[in-house]
Amino acid sequence: MIIDSHMHCGVQNSDLPIETIREYLGRAGIDGACLYAPVEDIYDRYDWNFRDNAGWIRCRQRANRYVLDIQKTNPNFHAYYFVWNDFRREELSQGYRGVKWHRHESEPVYHYDDPRCEEFLQEVYRLGLPIVLEESFENTKYMVKRIDGRTPVIVPHLGGLNGGFQAILRSGMWESRTVYADTALASSGEISAFLDRYGSDRLLFGSDFPFGFPYEEIEKIARLRLDPDDFDRVSGENILRLLRLEKTGGTDSGEDRK
Ligand SMILES: [Zn+2]
Repeated sequence: MIIDSHMHCGVQNSDLPIETIREYLGRAGIDGACLYAPVEDIYDRYDWNFRDNAGWIRCRQRANRYVLDIQKTNPNFHAYYFVWNDFRREELSQGYRGVKWHRHESEPVYHYDDPRCEEFLQEVYRLGLPIVLEESFENTKYMVKRIDGRTPVIVPHLGGLNGGFQAILRSGMWESRTVYADTALASSGEISAFLDRYGSDRLLFGSDFPFGFPYEEIEKIARLRLDPDDFDRVSGENILRLLRLEKTGGTDSGEDRK
């Protein structure tokens, strides 16, 4: 079973409906995906002074619910809750399987000191949800330290937009057994360097669709000619284990999951 662990899906400020996702996955022979809303449905990333309002809260809520509804009827799609500064802790128990946290250097900031941020994180730890953390290098370091292994952290793009693969390597963050990476838009050299150092248990195949394409991104992994067990782990087993959906030891029946 091949799972694309990083796809954006939404129909408000982007045109990325589930039908399009299915088409791209089908073309690539991929069985399922982790779905996050597009950033454009969460906040105005181009406005440094962005202020939240009722309209954005509704948009965000609809965006998160859209992927959650897909998960409800499709066992191979996994919905992540895309969090912003309203830190809706109560949403997490609706069935989301992970959390998406996203910000680039020039974009509006998360309110890390807000008590609701801490309450939100406590609920994430309680539910054991992995956090896909895309942030500046400094904030990535800060968050990995703050989370301190209480839940898995997935750094997308092998760190490409979190300060770079090498910067994270030098910082020692990749050493942590609860820090994972996804392969979306990363170079083959970085993928190989990660595998050589840390083995295949903490690397996840992802495309970052629509910024990357599933068939190209899986082809990039295939070209590395990994040992079949390593390929299976990277392309699907690792993410299913993180989401606690693997066949053995999973929390649900997983009947139709292979
Ligand atoms: Zn992305």
